[in-house]
Amino acid sequence: MAKRRILVVDNPNERRILRAKAKKVSRYDAYLERLVADMWETMREAPGVGLAAPQVGESIRVLVAEYEDNAVALVNPEIIKRAEDEELGTEGCLSIPGFIGDDVPRSAAVTVKARDPRGKEIRIKAEGWFARILQHEIDHLDGILYTDRVAPDKVRAVTEDDIEPEGAPPDERAVRRSKPARESHASALSGGEQS
Ligand code: ZN
Repeated sequence: MAKRRILVVDNPNERRILRAKAKKVSRYDAYLERLVADMWETMREAPGVGLAAPQVGESIRVLVAEYEDNAVALVNPEIIKRAEDEELGTEGCLSIPGFIGDDVPRSAAVTVKARDPRGKEIRIKAEGWFARILQHEIDHLDGILYTDRVAPDKVRAVTEDDIEPEGAPPDERAVRRSKPARESHASALSGGEQS
């Protein structure tokens, strides 16, 4: 496994890749297997809770996501069902370092159809933060960033308050929930995640 460099939107060449619609995977081979292994390592070291292949320069439909007991590597993922109700949450993105967005709307729950890296069809039902992470990552495969889903004034520079004791900014992490009811859960979260 090898850690890969994560592309950022500030770089025009890298932005082009981040903004492209990624291609479907048709071959489940050693190349794909290695890419997925590299993506796990890159995501965990960032640290993040999700990473899409375009973020490491591969414009193909692959993502990894890890939250609590859920860890998935998805190939050609498609949202086939989503809850009508939306939740607002704060998101960061490893490709937009130094910033986070508040009140990013996401479906409260989604069902995703995909294949695993060996080509086996799988279905994932996700809700809450895990559903948010999957939606954020699947957006990446279509060249969409969380900044497209909120007004510009919802995007702000990361402040001291947003930074964890370890000093890692809340990039590509589910930073914290807007709903006060989930506050304690959320602060545990800001301890080390995102997409
Ligand atoms: Zn992202």
